[in-house]
Amino acid sequence: RAKKLGRNQICYFAEEMQAKFIERYQIEANLLGALKRNEFVLHYQPVYPTDGKQVIGFEALIRWNFQNTLLFPDSFIEIAECSRVIFELGRWVITQAIAQVAYWNAKHNKTLSVSINLSALQLSDSSLIDFIKTVIDTYQFPARLIEFELTETALLEHDNQSIAFMSELNKLGCRIALDDFGSGFSSVAHLQNFPIDTVKLDQSLMFVCHETKTLALIKGLAAMLHSLDLNIVAEGIENTESMLLCQQLNIQRMQGYYFSKPLDVKTIEAKVL
Ligand code: C2E
Ligand code: MG
Ligand code: MG
Ligand code: MG
Repeated sequence: RAKKLGRNQICYFAEEMQAKFIERYQIEANLLGALKRNEFVLHYQPVYPTDGKQVIGFEALIRWNFQNTLLFPDSFIEIAECSRVIFELGRWVITQAIAQVAYWNAKHNKTLSVSINLSALQLSDSSLIDFIKTVIDTYQFPARLIEFELTETALLEHDNQSIAFMSELNKLGCRIALDDFGSGFSSVAHLQNFPIDTVKLDQSLMFVCHETKTLALIKGLAAMLHSLDLNIVAEGIENTESMLLCQQLNIQRMQGYYFSKPLDVKTIEAKVL
């Protein structure tokens, strides 16, 4: 392939590879300090109910102001996991997200919910439950308005520990969502083995919901999840077509660029609240 593209392209690829290498190295070296330097920010993606009218909550999504570039989580969460920074970073996210939405609810007299992504590793943090309880108490935030999002890897890697952790979250009154369902190796068994309240249908399904097989799959999944009494969130709603499909299938919540991208705090305050 390189031969076809010619010499310049080969140089270009080499540089790009090096850039990636340096970036990973730099990310690793700067990650812990970044927390102290206050370089992380949360963006919030509005979540809508079936009628699509009024925002009902937000998903908190982390970003990193790293040397004049806004880095997205896919470029540093995994590194944060390897270097164990994820434990401290994860706690920062929980505090920040709950404090922010508590503030908005108080200011606008609303009951907006907040969804927080957890890394699989965080389930092994034995004092995280106490930490969450303290944050809830500090901000007087109703636990039922908090949903923690876990991906299936979290469930696969630490079976018994995960169930115990999730039960503790339930006892606090928090809800649990299974994120990215329908991507990778989703197992139907998880739906009955783990104490989850919500399933988030992966955006990859919604992107091609007009294709016959995908449409059948989405319809089947929705029927199954409804009959299991699980709440459904559809991610990656980018157009009217997928939005209408969600309405037709009584999917309880929707997220996606059709409604809004994740936005910074100022923009949420100016345009959404
Ligand atoms: P996720 O939790 O599945 O979040 C959905 C991702 O899809 C977000 O990317 C969001 O910006 C993007 N998205 C939302 N709507 C649309 C749409 O209509 N079209 C398209 N193409 N994309 C859409 P983002 O913010 O880059 O986050 C990527 C992943 O990083 C998240 O996937 C989540 O797994 C992880 N993540 C984000 N924040 C945190 C965090 O605070 N802690 C941990 N552990 N992981 C996080
Ligand atoms: Mg998520
Ligand atoms: Mg997802
Ligand atoms: Mg994802």
